[in-house]
Amino acid sequence: MLIRQVRKMHIKPIKMRWATGGDNYSYLLSTQDKKLSWLIDPAEPMEVKPKLDSFELKSIRCIVNTHHHFDHSGGNLNMVHDLKIAGNSSVVKIVAGSTESQGATEIPEHLQRYKLGNLDILCIRTPCHTQDSVCYYVKDPETNEHALFTGDTLFTAGSGRFFEGTGEDMDAALNKRLLEGVGEPNWSLTRVFPGHEYTKSNVKFVRKAVYTNIGENDALDELEDFCNKHEMTTGRFTLQDELKFNPFMRLDDKLVRKAVGDSAGKMGRSEVMDKLRHMKNSM
Ligand SMILES: [Zn+2]
Repeated sequence: MLIRQVRKMHIKPIKMRWATGGDNYSYLLSTQDKKLSWLIDPAEPMEVKPKLDSFELKSIRCIVNTHHHFDHSGGNLNMVHDLKIAGNSSVVKIVAGSTESQGATEIPEHLQRYKLGNLDILCIRTPCHTQDSVCYYVKDPETNEHALFTGDTLFTAGSGRFFEGTGEDMDAALNKRLLEGVGEPNWSLTRVFPGHEYTKSNVKFVRKAVYTNIGENDALDELEDFCNKHEMTTGRFTLQDELKFNPFMRLDDKLVRKAVGDSAGKMGRSEVMDKLRHMKNSM
């Protein structure tokens, strides 16, 4: 009997700025046969290019930004130039949430879909960290793999700062748009790939401010253990995991309410969100 080998879509995280104290990620998302790729947030082409082989460089069809901040979008034009030099003869598009991203050629609408080979990609606009924040939800219908690129909107056990939005906006972004965009049956299948490796410091905050004792939140206990043993946590946790340990996605949890001074449970959700963010900012 012929056993059909199951090939998988590929996600290659590329560290940027780590040598100088930073913690950004760029990602190469490729189809099963690696013939087509998206390159997400390649802000530092000098660091990204050496991590890609010539086949990968030629496979890139779009440079994609999660938002316009320079540490995500600042390498767009140089990267397009580098791809041409590397022999990529396709027209490389720049997909981004607004024209504030360098060289943007396509601005997707909320819930706009793209195809990359057999991969289905859904653009979920999540304004708050910036007004042009977009999360990209990728599905491989053949292998049923799911991934979510969240930029600076959702981090493992945290959220981005509300530079261009409010607590209400972040509640809508994380707890409505992302959850509804992915859909409940897929939450436990969908791996989260954020724009920075912030997990360790996020866990430190959650431990100090919300679940102060071991045993209060088993998922957080496991995450704490994991990030003490691993430098990289990207792609290792799902949206369902976030619902278990991320306080920004647990606004009605008694211990989250207690942490923001609302043991009686009377605050509105957006106020809880604002207070949590304020506590994290001042830690
Ligand atoms: Zn940002």
